[in-house]
Amino acid sequence: MFESLSSRLGNTLRALSGSGRLTEDDVKNASRELRMALLEADVALPVVRDFVERVRARAVGAEVTQSLTPGQAFLRIVQQELVTTLGGETQGLNLRAQPPLVILMAGLQGSGKTTTSGKLALRLKDVDKKKVMLVSCDVYRPAAIEQLRIVAEKIGVECFPSAVGQNPVDIARAALDHARRAYAEVLIVDTAGRTSVDEAMMQEIAALHAAIEPAETLFVVDSMTGQDAANTAKAFADRLPLSGVVLTKVDGDARGGAALSVRTVTGAPIKFLGVGEKSSALEVFHPDRIASRILG
Ligand code: GDP
Repeated sequence: MFESLSSRLGNTLRALSGSGRLTEDDVKNASRELRMALLEADVALPVVRDFVERVRARAVGAEVTQSLTPGQAFLRIVQQELVTTLGGETQGLNLRAQPPLVILMAGLQGSGKTTTSGKLALRLKDVDKKKVMLVSCDVYRPAAIEQLRIVAEKIGVECFPSAVGQNPVDIARAALDHARRAYAEVLIVDTAGRTSVDEAMMQEIAALHAAIEPAETLFVVDSMTGQDAANTAKAFADRLPLSGVVLTKVDGDARGGAALSVRTVTGAPIKFLGVGEKSSALEVFHPDRIASRILG
């Protein structure tokens, strides 16, 4: 079981008086607990180091008002810094671009790209009232193409046909042409992932990006992959101008540390959370909620 940061701090800082300022020593002890809590929440080590240092710098000398204990004062600073680092405000999709607006889905195999493509299509159709089209450029796995076709059928959205052996860029261009002619407002392009970062995959998705100039390039990442999420995110962010992140499988028991790592490493806002396997299981990202989860 995870111990929450507040109970950890309760033990460390209990002995201190209830007013005055946080001293260097208070903050040193509390920072140690913060570091442990973040590592247990699966935040990547370099991200933990940076984050703890920022909190430490803010906390030393900070005033402890009468209504707060030193632990609460420290925790409040941590919470504020987490929300700021996670992006502060909630950010939706950029729907202002010229239609058909293209959304390119990027991420490793199994991260939840196809499922999330369906979820976004459903949301755009039902909430934003857009005419949406889907296309799969995964020319290596017939099952992936079929999976997207089935999802599209279920939610009542057109899926542009594609087949194994075709060129992904040709598929995407043809789908975009078709979307234009059919007056589709959004085209969601699902892509092939790999089990780990690999050069051929990166070249392919970079070529897709160049060919179809997406308004949104979303990096999809499994929140359960913890420490690895940061390395994967860096590899994708180095090759693609990511406009947003979708963190999936947040309904699992991970503490959500991947959110902090991925946001820090990519600089791109987390836009949605996947919270289940169903097409309706997509939530808009709220930094404060995941901040509370990370802190336990
Ligand atoms: P892809 O290879 O990146 O396209 O990944 P898929 O969309 O096929 O998803 C891989 C697996 O993760 C499937 O079994 C999905 O049902 C599951 N999955 C995707 N998103 C979520 C989520 O938010 N929560 C849960 N519990 N499962 C998810």
